[in-house]
Amino acid sequence: MCYDDTDGAFGRQSPSPDALSRRAFSRLLLAGTSLAALSACAPAQSFTPSGTPGSTPGPTPGMGGGTPTSSPSATPTPATSSAVPPSAAARPPSAAAPGPHHSLSDPTSPWVIVNKHRPLSPATFVPPDLVRPAVRLATSGEAALLNSTTAAAAEKMFAAAAAEGVIMTLASGYRSFATQTATYGSYVNSRGRAEADTASARPGHSEHQTGWAFDIGDGSGADAFTPQFKDRPAAMWAKANAHRFGFVVRYPWMLHKITGYFYEPWHLRFIGTEVAKDMSARGIGTLEQYFGLEAAPAYL
Ligand SMILES: [Zn+2]
Repeated sequence: MCYDDTDGAFGRQSPSPDALSRRAFSRLLLAGTSLAALSACAPAQSFTPSGTPGSTPGPTPGMGGGTPTSSPSATPTPATSSAVPPSAAARPPSAAAPGPHHSLSDPTSPWVIVNKHRPLSPATFVPPDLVRPAVRLATSGEAALLNSTTAAAAEKMFAAAAAEGVIMTLASGYRSFATQTATYGSYVNSRGRAEADTASARPGHSEHQTGWAFDIGDGSGADAFTPQFKDRPAAMWAKANAHRFGFVVRYPWMLHKITGYFYEPWHLRFIGTEVAKDMSARGIGTLEQYFGLEAAPAYL
């Protein structure tokens, strides 16, 4: 996931309510608490990505809806199913239009899905086209890199935000397997494995390693990597506009039972404009739901 703790900033913070909730969530998982028990915090919206309300069993409406994809390398079945009338409004443009479908497992694919059930393959993958985008940086070294497609989209998005008076910074981009190993290891050493899993992705499980994801900061530098960041202009602008540039807020509010991570208003993921716009139009919050993949609340 997302914290770039190489400067120790996160470690210096006092436990925040969010940090406490992360620990509480970790304990619930440790205790084997079922998703049903957690469903008291129901998502703000009940998503029916398959367009077939009531078809999704289980305690969390919308979770894992659509057509499950059993093989991670299979051609994805976007969240519409054959039961859905083939209207343009109900089908993803990517399914209705002649445009290409992409792999959900190839890390060079813009549709690759990485979560606690779906590690990168190979685990030590390095994007072949890392570049430094021409945007305002709040980091350096490898963390200032993105893959070339994501970098180009980020440049457009940052420029559009700036044109509306919103200054956005690139706070953390690419993270190598080695860096993730060190970051995760430091969490394990200081807090234990269970708690580390709520705050840092295991090596080979971070979207940051793909080059398709990055964290943003606000021009003011305030509230970086904290729950309060959601109220900063950069976060509000991104939430409202990122889809126009092919990005989604990857870990939305109250959908941690699906994504495996609590709300991260700073973590953006390039998925392409067709999917991002379609998800926005249809109110689908997660890539897991959109592509009909199982929820990934914890490591297997
Ligand atoms: Zn992140």
